[in-house]
Amino acid sequence: MKTITILGATGSIGTSTLDLVERSPDAFSVVALTANRDVDRLAAAAIRTRAKRAVVADETCLPALRTALAGTGVEAAGGEAAVTEAAAMPADVTVAAIVGCAGLRPAMAAVEQGNTLALANKEALVSAGDVMNAAVARHGATLLPVDSEHSAIFQCLDSALADRVSRIILTASGGPFRERPLDAMREITPAQAVAHPNWSMGAKISVDSATMMNKGLELIEAFHLFPIASEQIEIVVHRQSVIHSMVEYVDGSVIAQLGTPDMRTPIACALAWPDRMLTPGERLDLVKVGRLDFDAPDLERFPALALARAALEAGGARPAILNAANEVAVAAFLAGRIGFLEIAAIVADTLACYDPAAPDTLDAVLHVDREARVLADERVKERVA
Ligand code: NDP
Repeated sequence: MKTITILGATGSIGTSTLDLVERSPDAFSVVALTANRDVDRLAAAAIRTRAKRAVVADETCLPALRTALAGTGVEAAGGEAAVTEAAAMPADVTVAAIVGCAGLRPAMAAVEQGNTLALANKEALVSAGDVMNAAVARHGATLLPVDSEHSAIFQCLDSALADRVSRIILTASGGPFRERPLDAMREITPAQAVAHPNWSMGAKISVDSATMMNKGLELIEAFHLFPIASEQIEIVVHRQSVIHSMVEYVDGSVIAQLGTPDMRTPIACALAWPDRMLTPGERLDLVKVGRLDFDAPDLERFPALALARAALEAGGARPAILNAANEVAVAAFLAGRIGFLEIAAIVADTLACYDPAAPDTLDAVLHVDREARVLADERVKERVA
């Protein structure tokens, strides 16, 4: 039996993780579940799974959580510090599924306990890649990818042969606007942007997929997860999302991982690692899929990709600024304050006006994140005015 904590248990990844955990009650025992404000969903999941503790990040929701959990034996807690405390509770596996840089401190708390961190929360690794990897090494923690592309690479990359890898090919669905002309992209609404053709996901990552910033964040994530130079990571648009990514070796062999687009497969891969566990998802029917298409990404219509690559190559604080500005811009787009094409423009403007020294501690990364958010918010206000 593995003990498990799920940070962001009420979201898309959190719900898929709970589905797997609840289908295997003899395999998992739940330590803590966290959410931001969704008390109903959190309390219900904590009661069903007999979690030790349930935590809301927004402290104003704590009284409601206490009421919902009264008499159940599940402890209730609230506030950002309480989420970090829950993340630091000993667990065999901690699933980091909070969206955005808000998940960084809790993810680091789990790493500092030497826990195994199943990481979906890519923004944490993008913002603090070097700091997080140093902490993983210092505390003997294990970082396992949950993102489907990185799970694919993890499964294809033989770590004993890491120096024989010549290329990582990161596949991208291209999102819902893969073929839309640039002019027509100006009119894209939040409802259109969150409707992903292949995957069902939270709102923020759905918009990131539509701008292809998601692939940019994944490029940076791959760089920090695997021993590879940035120029050896190539992005290929593959509209069917059947091949989740590939690894090429020096002899020209390319190893791919395939499957239906169901996040429960990569989540299960991390939960059961180094074993495998049964998942309920639909199995891949290649005859039904029929064909697999591949295209080069269009950097003109998807400038976020070039911004992310430049941030990765410059290193230092650039990825944290890119991520923070993107979070602010996506929230402004979802709130109807700015247009779709302005998301990447705000990220570019924020990167252009802020260039601090490389952050080398968690607090320094969080400082860069805060400052970048203020600057990005000013850029949003300028565009709204
Ligand atoms: P969702 O928006 O569906 O869920 C986010 C979760 O984080 C919810 O539990 C939410 O709580 C919680 N949360 C939000 N803000 C805060 C905060 N400030 N403090 C603490 N908790 C917070 O996101 P997804 O599940 O789609 O994505 C989660 C992460 O996984 C992201 O980093 C995403 O990039 C990554 N990912 C997601 C994939 C997917 O298929 N969805 C695929 C690969 C990666 P509440 O419900 O109360 O708001």
